[in-house]
Amino acid sequence: MHNIAASLQSVRAEISGAAEAAGRSAKIELIAVSKGQGADAVRAALQAGQTVFGENRVQEAASKFPALRAEFPQLRLHLIGPLQSNKTRKALELFDVLHSVDRMELVQELARHRDLWTGKKFLLQVNTGLEPQKSGLSPHQADHFIAACKKDYQLPISGLMAIPPLGHDPAPHFQMLADIAKRHNLPELSMGMSADFAEAIAYGATMVRIGTAIFGAR
Ligand SMILES: *Cc1c(COP(=O)(O)O)cnc(C)c1O
Repeated sequence: MHNIAASLQSVRAEISGAAEAAGRSAKIELIAVSKGQGADAVRAALQAGQTVFGENRVQEAASKFPALRAEFPQLRLHLIGPLQSNKTRKALELFDVLHSVDRMELVQELARHRDLWTGKKFLLQVNTGLEPQKSGLSPHQADHFIAACKKDYQLPISGLMAIPPLGHDPAPHFQMLADIAKRHNLPELSMGMSADFAEAIAYGATMVRIGTAIFGAR
């Protein structure tokens, strides 16, 4: 069986090494992406000291996490996949951090559930590669969208998230995301997965989303 505790330890060591190489001292949050993994795998990671998890589907998270939260109250859950507007309330009930805010309709729906905003963090997803199959704002819309979220809905935006196109050099995508965040003074950058997290850290990632390198192949 895949050794989750050992993989976590080596991923954490690689994160520290990349942070040191980049001369960065601020904490980098490791999100263990548990999509496609059973509750036993999540429990093994929790027992190895990992408390932050990422899921890309509301339904899957709803079936796995309420029981785990009861068992491990320190657990924090991040939604890293696209959110359908009709699942907004459920997502706010289940997740602590939403990485995939990407359209006005969703912001309006979030605003209807302001009562559930306490303690939440919101990130906007940017489709840096303009891929039609991927969600996210197009980069040229981002400035206007960020301003509208703040002005019209008072949505507290913590930062930005992106998934660079598969098979391309991720560096220009990380750089683009970092540039947009900097223009708007947004502190959080959610970027970097199993294959490219060290590079994402060099470009300023504050949150890395890692599945395969921790849990093995899905
Ligand atoms: C699955 C997924 C990840 C983790 O990918 P790995 O390559 O398994 O590390 C990160 N981010 C998002 C948005 C994902 O859907």
